[in-house]
Amino acid sequence: MGAKTVYRCVKIVMKMGLKVDLVLINANELVTLRGSSTKPKTGKDMDNLEVIKNGAFAVSNGRIATVGTTEEVLKRLEGEYEIIDAKDKLVTPGLIDPHVHLIFAGTREVELEKMAVKGVAYLEIKSQGGGMPLTLKKTAETSTKDQMKITTKILDRMLIHGTTTIEAKSGYEMTYEGEIRQLEIIKALNEHHPMDLISTFCAQGIPPDHESRVDELTDDIVDRWIPEIAQRKLAEYADVFCEKGYFNVEQTRRILEAGRKHNLKLRNHCDWLVHSGGAKLVAELGGVVSADHLIFTPIEEVEALKDQGTVIIFLPTSPFCYVGKYADARGIIDRGLPVALATDVSAANLCESMQMMMTLAVLRMKMTAAEALVAATINAAHSIDRENEIGSLEVGKKADFVIFDAPNHRFFAYNYGVNLAEKVYKQGKLVAERGRRI
Ligand SMILES: [Zn+2]
Repeated sequence: MGAKTVYRCVKIVMKMGLKVDLVLINANELVTLRGSSTKPKTGKDMDNLEVIKNGAFAVSNGRIATVGTTEEVLKRLEGEYEIIDAKDKLVTPGLIDPHVHLIFAGTREVELEKMAVKGVAYLEIKSQGGGMPLTLKKTAETSTKDQMKITTKILDRMLIHGTTTIEAKSGYEMTYEGEIRQLEIIKALNEHHPMDLISTFCAQGIPPDHESRVDELTDDIVDRWIPEIAQRKLAEYADVFCEKGYFNVEQTRRILEAGRKHNLKLRNHCDWLVHSGGAKLVAELGGVVSADHLIFTPIEEVEALKDQGTVIIFLPTSPFCYVGKYADARGIIDRGLPVALATDVSAANLCESMQMMMTLAVLRMKMTAAEALVAATINAAHSIDRENEIGSLEVGKKADFVIFDAPNHRFFAYNYGVNLAEKVYKQGKLVAERGRRI
């Protein structure tokens, strides 16, 4: 064994190509979003998608093995593999939805119409037996088996629209047993559904019998719920509905601090309906992974989040449906803060499509098409702490990707209200095709 042998081995390796299972070729636009796994894209860099014309990539054991133009990629390969021809298509990483109130029963389309058309106030809806109390009641009355069915339908619809990973919150039972049950359902769905679910305990609805005793409810959450949830590893995050009529800033602080004490990562609902102080609290706490909504947050309070690593998540559905006012996306992006987009799927309004969120981001929030796609992929991955696994198409990451029946990434704002996702792949496996889960 001498230098000569070593030389020979190197020579053999140089001649061998990559062995892969699957190769996608000829994409009209392959949006890779490469190079942003260390930190989220911000400012002008959000317009840089790293697009490859006539793009290709290869997949080995569910992971991306190589990326480039079709010619470059094919040259690097050897052996047999399955080929997907994406001629004339847009190919992107799987979309990521980082804010989902997943587990609930009962729908509220009648009250949404009243709010949107007649301008009926939410508090009036609630006094008539609708709103959050109705959802808490309906959800508690629904068996786990039926709840799994209801929720699977939502997950299927997300998947066929190109979403491959979501953050999933509890929060629609708000009893000790109920919240544990919701998190167990999320865990079971993560194991049995192609979708990857990141679990969050969310202190959300206030049960009617606790409306004047939210401090007591907070005590129980801090002393009993969070320790149990953390000990059983039922959630990765703690989140609070810090809003007028829900949890105030002090109660939110106590819950988030309890979460942190028990090693849960943090996210928070901030300034959705009024300037409630949630974003200011996030800045004080530091290290909160995401701050969500920020519709009524003064810009100086938003700026205080800069350099904290907190991703701001925009949720355009409630402004679209009834709040009217959108977060100041342009001001926030231009100040260099990282942003993501999410559906905010909930009992109040239900849109499972991240494609629609990109439509609204461009047509209602003055985000460019590239910024919207960044916010729905790599930055969304950062907002759930999965930036090293998903959110871009680069070597070593999961082969989660979508083939869209669209020539380029600007099409989401142009051809909207329909599903452009033609094929959806999870770790290199086809999981949805032309609107049907496989
Ligand atoms: Zn929410």
